[in-house]
Amino acid sequence: MKALTIRPGHSGSLRIDEVPDPAPESATLLVRALAVGVCGTDRELISGQYGSAPSRRDRLVIGHESLGIVEEAPGDSPVRIGDLVIPFVRMPDPVPCDCCAAGEWDRCRNDRFTEHGIRALDGFARERFRVAPDRVIVADQSLGLTAVLGEPASVVAKAWAVVDSVTRDACWTPRRALVTGAGPVGLLAALIGRQRGLDVHVFDRAVDGPKPDLARRLGATWHNGSFEELPTDFDVVIECTAAPMIAMRSASRTAPNGVVCLVGVAEHRPPISLDAAAVNDLLVLGNRIVVGSVNANRSHYQAGHTALQRAERGWLDSLITRRIPFAESLGAFDPAINDVKTIIVFDRAEEAFR
Ligand code: BGC
Repeated sequence: MKALTIRPGHSGSLRIDEVPDPAPESATLLVRALAVGVCGTDRELISGQYGSAPSRRDRLVIGHESLGIVEEAPGDSPVRIGDLVIPFVRMPDPVPCDCCAAGEWDRCRNDRFTEHGIRALDGFARERFRVAPDRVIVADQSLGLTAVLGEPASVVAKAWAVVDSVTRDACWTPRRALVTGAGPVGLLAALIGRQRGLDVHVFDRAVDGPKPDLARRLGATWHNGSFEELPTDFDVVIECTAAPMIAMRSASRTAPNGVVCLVGVAEHRPPISLDAAAVNDLLVLGNRIVVGSVNANRSHYQAGHTALQRAERGWLDSLITRRIPFAESLGAFDPAINDVKTIIVFDRAEEAFR
């Protein structure tokens, strides 16, 4: 069968390869791929800046945002043949650490976790894969191919859960939120913010194209001027640009006690210089909190999926701006004007929804 592979650490090694079918003993669910989403992490993998191959191999199958349909399942499995599934990216570490043992592999403490399509485990950009029934959630058929947004939605659902965890005992309630960066992750963060009834503002450098409209259709306020001109009274900032200067200065847009949740990965961006004393005092003298958030566990996948179910279907369809057939997927990773989310669609994907 065919798979999209790279040689981690080597730029420009992306190709469509012939790879063996997944071994039946590896896991009980056989899944036919319907779609994979493309994200910034994939571009970093392709440019050789991130990722690792499975042990004793030099190539990695990429693709971590996946939607598939189950073709084989054991009789006693809670996941059935014909179910649509969204597989988890991260596998707990083998030790396991306290967090992985508790099902919170997204908080792995010993750094020995693996990630499908990213770190030491093959990903889902292949025609078929196997996965254990407890490593997926079942997706709602009525979402169609937009269910492939389940993984990025899980990442932002976790970010909001992190905000909840640090504000739970507060004597104030978050009302105003700023999302920096209007890529798919930022827009999904804005979606969840609006579903929570917050006054959401989205900041991005885009001046036209679909992003401002997608934000406004959520009922969010769009900003694309200077970061310095943004209001300074937000209760929450979900930082999705990964631009170091914006990330490090996000707290300056918050009211006292405000919370910044950093979601973007800024690896390999050039160093910046900033006034560290000013940042220190802003945090200390205003009781502000800056917290990072990565990956997602089952509860976040469920919450992200629920957010997709509650979203307007037309909005989710508009977020996906490019649908590229798997046979042409080598071109899916090049930036395209006015692109928000690109997905790679496998042969016969639409049959799953008839
Ligand atoms: C993925 C996460 C993953 C992170 C770090 C992101 O693109 O969505 O699941 O944990 O990269 O590898």
